[in-house]
Amino acid sequence: MYAGRKHLETYRVSLMLTERCNLSCSHCWLDSGPDKTVSMATAEAFDYIDQAREIPTVKWISITGGEPFLFEDTLLKVISFAKKRGFYTECVTNCFWAQSEKKAEIILAKLKEAGLEVINISTDDFHQRQLPFERVLNCYKASQRLGVKTVIMCVVARSSRLTIGRVVGMLADGGIQVIGKDHRPNSPVSALAIESGFIPAGRAAKLPESKRVTDGASIKGPCHQILRDVSIAPSGKVFPCCSALGTDEAFAIGNAGRERLRLIIQKASRSPLFKVLMNQGPEGLYKKGVGRSRKEYVNRCDLCYAVMTDSEVFLSDHSGSKRQSNQQQKPPDDCSHRSHRDFFYQPGARKRPNKGGKRAGNHKFYSAMCF
Ligand code: SF4
Ligand code: SF4
Repeated sequence: MYAGRKHLETYRVSLMLTERCNLSCSHCWLDSGPDKTVSMATAEAFDYIDQAREIPTVKWISITGGEPFLFEDTLLKVISFAKKRGFYTECVTNCFWAQSEKKAEIILAKLKEAGLEVINISTDDFHQRQLPFERVLNCYKASQRLGVKTVIMCVVARSSRLTIGRVVGMLADGGIQVIGKDHRPNSPVSALAIESGFIPAGRAAKLPESKRVTDGASIKGPCHQILRDVSIAPSGKVFPCCSALGTDEAFAIGNAGRERLRLIIQKASRSPLFKVLMNQGPEGLYKKGVGRSRKEYVNRCDLCYAVMTDSEVFLSDHSGSKRQSNQQQKPPDDCSHRSHRDFFYQPGARKRPNKGGKRAGNHKFYSAMCF
């Protein structure tokens, strides 16, 4: 039986259907692009969905990438399978496939028929340097016509022309609610929109520091997503969240191709490091005197990534959290993030989002992404 504490109830499992993408955005923390060849087999996706069913608190299956619409048939099958297994489903996209409103509607209608609940549209300068905004508009109009719930994600740099306000204006829909901004949509709300600064992980680590948006976003407070919103890569590797700790193999907590997902999460829930993240957030780690090397961070996940990729964090935990001299802090020869994995295993925190099996509204569902 899944023995997680109440506050550690996993509610969403994201399947990264493919590493491949038609675009190669400079801010992509997963380093996706046309040159990537690794994808998840349909049978593997089905298996992970069945494994997710062993965790009664999981209500949502999210399909991510790369660009999952590159494999439209697989996407349809996986959405349909998840729906039949009783899950709500979501998928993310850059909308490259929406060449016209009509085409967008045909494709989305098939996905809706298969069981798709939410479409999560990525749009910003990074994407639109390679793809006309018209595709986003076509997809948005189709989702609205079909009644597919819609979330718009806009990642910004300091120099961004396309901010979330501008995107909402270009979509010309006064019913879009912008999360975290002083903005009153018309009633009823037609879609949710979220803006966040890019996090310097993966390819985005190569972007100049001066482009980071570090003002305003909070880095304080506990992480509400860790082990609640887990992701599985095409390799079967399981990651503790869908944000920055889902971007680096070093943070994998197990492999769902070799061990049951519920056992992987159970084990991970015993990691003292995760416990700190759940109860105090990444700030709790640097307050212990480790891992904070910059003055400013984009948001909590940026700080988390910076702290967790600092080998001192691992050493500090290994050495009973007492910092030692530089020489003593040097990792042993066999030391890598992965070799410290037992360090990750600890419990966490959270309230069930979907009590009584009731459908989660967009707000609760997307609170995952509101930093
Ligand atoms: S950010 Fe999204 S659209 Fe851009 S390369 Fe990465 S996966 Fe593709
Ligand atoms: S703070 Fe962000 S990156 Fe860190 S575990 Fe939580 S969601 Fe993941």
